[in-house]
Parts: sequence; C-alpha cells; structure tokens
Amino acid sequence: MEWILKYMSWVAVISLSLGYWTQVYRIHLHKEVRDLALPSYVLMSIGFAILFFQAVKDESTIFIAKQIAVFVPVTIIIFQIIIHRKDKWHDSHNPECLSCKEELEMTWKICPYCGTDAPEFVLLPEFQKTLDEKKQSQKQQD
Ligand SMILES: [Zn+2]
Repeated sequence: MEWILKYMSWVAVISLSLGYWTQVYRIHLHKEVRDLALPSYVLMSIGFAILFFQAVKDESTIFIAKQIAVFVPVTIIIFQIIIHRKDKWHDSHNPECLSCKEELEMTWKICPYCGTDAPEFVLLPEFQKTLDEKKQSQKQQD
C-alpha cells in the first residue's frame, strides 16, 4: 500500500510543476501579464526556496525535487511578468488593422489605435493570403 502513496507523490510533484509550466507557456503565447500579481509569484518563490533548504536538511528526495520543480517555473514567471509588463494581448490568429497594422482582437469593432472601423478594414492573416493569391492569378491572366 505504501508504494501507491510513494508513486502518487511523484505524480503530485509532476502535476504541481506542470501547473506552473502551463502558465509559463500561456504567457509565452499571449504576452499578457496584466492580471498576474508579481508579489504573489515573488512570495511563492521565496517560500519554495526556503523550504528547499529544509528539505535538504530533512534529506527528503521527494520534497527536494518538488521544491526545485516548482521554484524554476515560478522564477521564470517572475521574469516573464517583468519583461512583458508593457506588452499587449497577442494571438497569432488575431487580425491586424489595415490602416495602422496594429494587432486587433476578434471582438473589436473599432481599431483603438487609429479609430478605423474594424469590420471594413480588418483582414485575417489567412484571408489576406487568399486575397494576395487571387491578385497574383488575376495578374497572370491579364
Ligand atoms: Zn488602426
């Protein structure tokens, strides 16, 4: 029975670590950190670091591994929050304003950067590609 607890504890370590790594990945994708509290991640990082030394003192392999597994991604998140604090939400599927080329969000009706009406002037990148291809084929026909 004890081996199940031992095994499940390692599953918990991986699970906790992946929990933070998914946040790292999400910030990497969208560059949006406005709703993330820097003090929260700094406090967690300090707590994990202190308990790492306790785990070393107690010679507990699983808690040493757990502290490292959560400390690393939480520290990366701290740097991501600092680096991206002035960035806007980014999504590779987002359309861009034809007038000023700024990235727009799907639901926006007006470009907040230049005031252009979005529905008429916004093209999705894929749609722009098809338009370019059509123009190319028309040129070849002419
Ligand atoms: Zn614009």
